[in-house]
Amino acid sequence: MTRNDLVRPDVQRFALGQMRVTTILDGAQMRTPLNPPFAMDKDEDALRAIGAAHRLPWDRFQNNYVPTLIDTGTDLVLIDVGFGAAGRESGAGHLRARMERVGYLPGDVTVVAFTHVHPDHILGVMEDGAPAFPNARHAIGRREFDEWKRGDLIPPQRAKNREMFLDLIAPMEERLSFLEDGDSVVPGLTAEAAFGHSVGHMMFRAESEGRQMLVWGDVCNHYVFSMQYPDSPVGFDDDKDAAIATRRRVLDMAASDDLLIAGHHMPFPATGYVERAGDGFRWVPAAYQIWT
Ligand SMILES: [Zn+2]
Repeated sequence: MTRNDLVRPDVQRFALGQMRVTTILDGAQMRTPLNPPFAMDKDEDALRAIGAAHRLPWDRFQNNYVPTLIDTGTDLVLIDVGFGAAGRESGAGHLRARMERVGYLPGDVTVVAFTHVHPDHILGVMEDGAPAFPNARHAIGRREFDEWKRGDLIPPQRAKNREMFLDLIAPMEERLSFLEDGDSVVPGLTAEAAFGHSVGHMMFRAESEGRQMLVWGDVCNHYVFSMQYPDSPVGFDDDKDAAIATRRRVLDMAASDDLLIAGHHMPFPATGYVERAGDGFRWVPAAYQIWT
């Protein structure tokens, strides 16, 4: 079998109260090595043991990218936009085509909300030189926008990423909606601060008929290495100490409150629950309990 013969699920839709939630695989890429970015405080023996315990390779990982689309009945909110054309030669950038396959046209999206401005979350905002979601209002965390514009707190390894921000997002300033912790994006969807992975990273909580779901963006980037070892520094995190504190806080909240999670880098279909396990946590994939 060649890589092109591979078939894997790429769209999931389920109900959250009166809302309809769709998770869509923008794409997936094998990345090497595993450390860094993950488990930067662990040696090779420890990585091999963790990998073996989870039937995972210890020296590479697959990153997958999963935007979430929330149909509230009055709004269609897209959280993060994937890689767009920039990802298409390397296995990503399929968000719009896969949305259309299940009946949502790009012009149907009323709000695009960004968790943060790393490439896999913003590059798909344009397509062929025009807005990819032409009728949408775009919303972003106030701190995320201001700090990426100012630049002082953006680490040097994100220099290219900052150019992407200045190219794609900064010119939208006049038309953007800015979000602070606790702000409503649309009725039933609230923004929450989760700083660290990126300086002003936000997450989003959807609620309908007493059911809740937290779209946590990149609070955790790997379902084993980030969750079982939340205190391990992660190369992808721009402010490592803040990211660790946020990860601990959000994982703790998710476990205590039994929250359904949609995670951009969790294994597709990227929905699950968090359970305490030893000093860390465990990802419990959601299945038919959310499909019925
Ligand atoms: Zn990401």
